[in-house]
Order: sequence, then structure tokens, then C-alpha cells
Amino acid sequence: MPLFCDVALPVPLDMPFTYAIPPGMEPVVGGRILVPFRQQRMSGIVVELHDRTPQTTSVKIKNVIEALDLAPVLDDQLLKLGKWISDYYLAPLGEVFRTMLPLSAEFKRSVAYRITDTGHMALHLAGMSGSSARSRRTPDEQLIEFRVLDYLGERDGADVSENRLRHATRASRALLDGMVRKKWIAREDVSAARDAARTIKVAVLLSADVETPLAASAETGQAPSLPPRGRGVGVHVKNPKLNANQRTLIDTLAAAGGRVPIESLRGLDLPRTTLSTLVRRGLIQLIDEPKAFTVSKIRPRPSPFEFDFSPAQKEALAKTRDSVTSRKFAGVLLHGVTGSGKTAVYLAGMREVLDQGRSAILLVPEIGLTPAVAADLHHVFGDEVAILHSALTHAERAVQWHRIKRGDARVVVGTRSAVFAPVSDLALLIVDEEQDSSYKQEETPRYHARDVAVMRAKMAGAVVVLGSATPSLETYYNAKKNKYALLELPDRVEQRPLPEVEILDMRQEFQETGHEQVISRKLAEEIRDRLNKKEQVMILLNRRGYSPVVLCRACGQTLQCKNCAVAMTHHKREHKMECHYCGYVAHIPDKCAHCGSEYVYFVGTGSEKLEELLHGMFPQARIGRLDRDTVRGREDFEHTLNALNEGELDMLVGTQMIAKGHDVHGVTLVGVVGADHALSLPDFRAAERTFQLLTQVAGRAGRGESPGKVVLQTYFPDHYAVQFAARHDFAGFYDKELQFRSWMHYPPYAAIANVVVRSEELDQALAWSGELGRWFERTRHEGIRVLGPAAAPILRLKRDYRYHFILKSPSREKMNTWLRAMLAEAAARKIPRTQIIVDVDAVWLM
Ligand SMILES: [Zn+2]
Ligand SMILES: [Zn+2]
Repeated sequence: MPLFCDVALPVPLDMPFTYAIPPGMEPVVGGRILVPFRQQRMSGIVVELHDRTPQTTSVKIKNVIEALDLAPVLDDQLLKLGKWISDYYLAPLGEVFRTMLPLSAEFKRSVAYRITDTGHMALHLAGMSGSSARSRRTPDEQLIEFRVLDYLGERDGADVSENRLRHATRASRALLDGMVRKKWIAREDVSAARDAARTIKVAVLLSADVETPLAASAETGQAPSLPPRGRGVGVHVKNPKLNANQRTLIDTLAAAGGRVPIESLRGLDLPRTTLSTLVRRGLIQLIDEPKAFTVSKIRPRPSPFEFDFSPAQKEALAKTRDSVTSRKFAGVLLHGVTGSGKTAVYLAGMREVLDQGRSAILLVPEIGLTPAVAADLHHVFGDEVAILHSALTHAERAVQWHRIKRGDARVVVGTRSAVFAPVSDLALLIVDEEQDSSYKQEETPRYHARDVAVMRAKMAGAVVVLGSATPSLETYYNAKKNKYALLELPDRVEQRPLPEVEILDMRQEFQETGHEQVISRKLAEEIRDRLNKKEQVMILLNRRGYSPVVLCRACGQTLQCKNCAVAMTHHKREHKMECHYCGYVAHIPDKCAHCGSEYVYFVGTGSEKLEELLHGMFPQARIGRLDRDTVRGREDFEHTLNALNEGELDMLVGTQMIAKGHDVHGVTLVGVVGADHALSLPDFRAAERTFQLLTQVAGRAGRGESPGKVVLQTYFPDHYAVQFAARHDFAGFYDKELQFRSWMHYPPYAAIANVVVRSEELDQALAWSGELGRWFERTRHEGIRVLGPAAAPILRLKRDYRYHFILKSPSREKMNTWLRAMLAEAAARKIPRTQIIVDVDAVWLM
């Protein structure tokens, strides 16, 4: 066995750490390992095993505490992918690996304790005789030891993490070590113990030694001869030495068909020893059974295969099939208008891959799309589907991850991080709505799941399909340059027409009505018409809360978050002010915090207020709302969508959450109320985003029998993003926008990186960004432009003052090298690594 291993730890340092491997321990590359790091224990991933004695003189090489995995949790390909992400996005490797493994519970609490039989005995003795007189331990220590045993005894069979145990009992680490040495308690690595969490213990009655009257009757066909009532005996047992408790237990098991989860036996209120005695005597066996896991509660839509594939769909499928068969990397852009049947192509492609015994991953943008797609997938693939998305609990994620790793599930659907699903023999990777910004992670590592998907497919020799009605400029450009094959689905299924879009100029509406309208007269009229016809309506307002701004009419100040330079939003129902950037909550002000005036006004409209307004205008209508305030979990979302599908709602109001992928056939009118305010933001992607959102939401209308209509209220009726969206003209928008990007040296013509320098102290942020600015100036690179330092559009965010640089270059490699040098310079100047954000291919520039 090698003497040393290099470990990537989830800390903000760009290097692996070397540890010595104690004799007898066999860590594996790609497996998790527990090591001492500073004052704590931490688990990381083994990246190399070797015999090179480290060159450090000052620090003694520490020993590995424990190898947590016998087999790699990250295979060679995922290790390689992780290293690529670490290089490309300039992120510490250990933090990349942590993101790739949805096993955070196992990572954080890697050590758990349980009580042993000896410990039970000690607890029992302590309870009888107080303490042992010969003990050299102090009374305090004895008390704590007793507490530990008692605490673990109460929770026998469950993992108790070290943190929880120490918090509950005030035990020191040394004291626990002593108890482990005495074999009173056992310390376990949780990666193994978690297996218990994924399964339930079931008690099984072994019929060989016991015969119940029911079993006897089944065998002999005779009427059971029940013993006289009232004697507490329900079974005839060959072994005569059963006490009443044991009989009750066996009775219960027999009545339940011989198998009962031990959890449900608790209700019998028997001593714990009853079960264990019967197990020891071989009358009952305990087995592990996997916990049942429901994929999704949403009702499946009619089978996506009920309609015939159009020639375009067939062609897309055939092209994908050919590429998959060749086992060589291929990239495909599937550009299909909304409602053109992209999902059916995905499912058919995945079905074929599965039939060949290979694996497929489908990425979807956010929880919003997942339930419906998961329901479809479940419908088509049954138990071979696993889902991985952010709304799952840690435990649920781990269950899914292990199912995939074991090969039980070879079709994976999920959000961003599902790109790391540990499938083997990956054949097909699909990124649905590839333009969606939720694929970009806005914390370290700041990876883009679409780009990682392309790289993973390259490494695996797989096919990557990027699907969208509104592809990102980057992807469309790549397809035009023949880096990807471009497949178009130009028509909606069954030739349903795209909805008619009417642009409503809200400036004119203001002039004609004399005051600011939320719902224009025209939109109100259209809504009334649909409600009369019993058709459904969706209204998009991409801003949550009640009022986005609180303004003092006396001094003109707005109520700002104390942590961020942004206005706080009024949430009426929850009776609070909330910052949508950091989550800070404050009381609703009754007077101005700046001048004390009482003329405080709530300005503007969010989705909560819109819902209230619509209730007032259409009191008979049943209105649902979908936004981050009404959707706390997957269930809320599914509940509302199901209600809409079942016709229990007439109208659905919401933020961009309602714009994505929901196939609701009854919706014939979509109203867009203020989806264009992004156009006034200082962000070069504003036009692209607005175009995409408008196209997406318009696509929700008229997916059933009746044709759809969209009323698009805007203050920018002449903006090309609005105009092209209204005409469903992607190519037109694309040409215009590319021209602008080319002039301004923005992607796809240049790679960009956003470097943010942050500090809670304004002076510090200014000083550091000044130093780095002078360094960029001094080391100036040919072909790389640096803009800044400048105050970030949101100067203060989550308590930090922020200054930033934007780097643009046609050469990604050059830019990457320079950024690496910048980080080295910053480290030399003692600027903490955590205070500099390097965001390669930044999507959010605020
Ligand atoms: Zn004021
Ligand atoms: Zn804030």
C-alpha cells in the first residue's frame, strides 16, 4: 500500500493536502476519507496515492483518520470532470467535489456513535448501583458518561452524530474516546451508517419454529382452532417458553402476514428486549428493506407517445440515434418552438438508450419544470428513473444518488447538479431550456451546467442535446458555426398555431386613462371574455411580493435593506418587509426612517398585489398564484399545477415560474404585466432575457384545442426584444442581437469574466480593488480588455461592499492564465481568497 495520499478538501485553498496512510488502511482514489484539518475533522476526496515523502519541514504529516469508502464515489471520468471545472472556473478542487456529491449530510457529520452491548450493561449497572467505588474518574466524568450512555440507549439503532451527542451531553472528545476504548460505545463512519437511513428494518416471522392458527388453517384447509379468549394467546408455538410479551409480538406479526416494520411495533409498548430475544432465539429475523420513495405526486399527463411523430421529430430522433450508436461525442441543438414536442423526442431518445443497457441524463432548469417531467419519465420508464433536484431533502438526494450509483436507476432527471449523476456508460445527456440562467451556479464553484454537460459528454463519448425554443446566443452561434448539429422543430404538434400577440403600449394607456394601470382596459376585457367562456388565463408579473418600493414623499428616500443597497419589498399577507437579495426581514414602517415623516407610500405592484387586484376585478374567478412566496416546496407547486390542470382554477398569476414548460391545455389567454422592466437594467443580456421570457410565457397559450392569445403590456413597445418576441421571430432577434454583441465585444464574440472584490468595510473594498486595478494596469495583456474597477451595479450586497472588473477576451486560455496570476498576486498581498469572486462566463453582472 502507498504511504501517502493527496486529498482535496472543501476549503477555499487551491491545493491538495498530503496525509500519511496508517498500516492496514486502504483508501482508494475517488473515495472519501476522513482527515484532521486544523482543529477539526473533515472529509475529502482522495485524488492520488503515492510514496513521495512531502518536502515540508515545519509541519508534521498527519495520519488519515479513516477511509470512508472501499470503492470510489467519484469514478475516473467524474474526477477528470471535476479537475476540468476546477481549472476552467478557477475553483478549489475540494469545493468542486463537494458540489458534485449530494451527500452533504455524510460529509458534514461523518462520525456517528451508537451504544454497544457492553455499554447497555454498564448503563444497567450504573442504574442499579450508582457508581463503582474503585473508579479513578471524577464524579463529573461519571455523570457525563452516564448521560452519554443514557442518551445513546434512548436512541438505540439510530445514528447520533458527534455534534448532537456532544451538544446534548456536554461530553468532551477525550471522554468519548475513553468510552470507545472501553467498548461502551462504538464510533462509526456515517457513510456506512447512512445505509441504515436509506432502508427500514422489517421484522419477519420465521414460520419454521412457529405456527399460527391462520398458517395452520392455510396449510390444512381446516378451520382454525382458536384458543379460549382472554388468555392472551393467539398462536400455538412449538417452543413453550414464550412469555406474554413475546406472544403478543408474534401474534401481531402473524396477524400482519408475517412482516412488519419494527417502527410500527413500537405501538405495542413492549420492552425493547422482547424483540431482540426472539431474534436471538431464531423466531424472528430482522431484514433491511429499501424505503419506498415516491418520485412525484403530480398526475402523469397522457402518454407523450400517443401522437404520431412529425417528420421533423422523426429526423431529430434519427440523428440522435445515429450519434449515440457511434459512441463518439456529438453536440446537437434542438431548436423547437414552444409546443413543438421536444419532450417527446427526449423521451424516445432516452428510451432507446435505456433499451441498449446504457444511461441517460436529462437536465431541467428548476423545480418548476421537474414534477411534470418526472411524472412523464416515471410514466415511460417506471422505477428506472431517479430525480435529483434542489427541492429534495438531503436524505432524499442521497437515496437517489445511491440508486444511480448502484445502477438501479439509469435514467436521471434533475436540475443543475444532476449533471454530476454517477451513471455508468453515459450515452445521452439532454439539457432542456439550455438558455436558462438557473444552470449557472452563483456560488463557488460557479459552473454552468450546460457547459459542464458538453464537457462530460466529450469525456464520455456521449451525445449532448441542447434543447430550447429560445436558444442562448452562445449556443445558437456554436450551431451556426457547425460546432453542434442544428435540428429545427419549426411547427407546433398537430399544426396548432402559435398564439397571436398583441402589444399594448402602457404609456398610451396612461395618457388615455390619466393614471397608471396595472391591468389595461384591453387585458381586463380579454380576461372577462375567457372567464365567460370557461377558459383559463395566465398572468405573468415577474416580481414577487406586494409592493417593491416603500417611498417617503417628504424626503424622497426609499426603505433600503440594512445589508444591501436595494429597496425592500412589502409582503402584505406575511406583514413584513423583505429583502429579496439577502432575505433580511424588517417591520413595516409607519414613518420614514430618515426624516420621521408619516408620508410613507407603498409604490408599485408585485404578484401578491396583482392577485388581490384580480380578485377585486373578477370576484367569481378562482385564482391561484405561483411564486417563491406561495411555493415553499415541491408539493405546493404540484398542488397548484394539478388544480389548474383539473380545471379547479380559472386563473394563474405568478412570476417567471409560470412561464416554464407547463403544458396546460385549457389556457387560451396569457397576459404579460411588466415583464420588461429588465430592459432598463445595466446588463448586456437584458434584451436576450426579456426576449426569452416573453417567448416562453407566450408559448403557454393555446396548447390545447382552442387557439391562444397573448396580451403583452409594455413601456418599451418599440424595443426590438419586444417586437421580435411578439412576432415569434427568433432568427430576426438573433441577427440583431449578435450585431450588438459583436460591436460591444460581448459573448459569443469574447469570453468574459466578472471579478468582484468585496468587503464589509467600504475602505477595504476600495483599497483592494485599487491594488488589483493597478496590477492589471501594470501587467497589461495583449487582447484582453479590463473594465474597472467600478462600483458593482448593486454596490452593497449581503453586508459586503462590492467593486468589480469585467474582463473580455477572444482568448479564453489567455484570460484564464491572467486570472490565475491575479489570484496569486492577491494571495501575495494577503487579500483573502474568499473576498475575491472570480466568475468565468458570468451570467449575473449586478
Ligand atoms: Zn423621509
Ligand atoms: Zn438585503
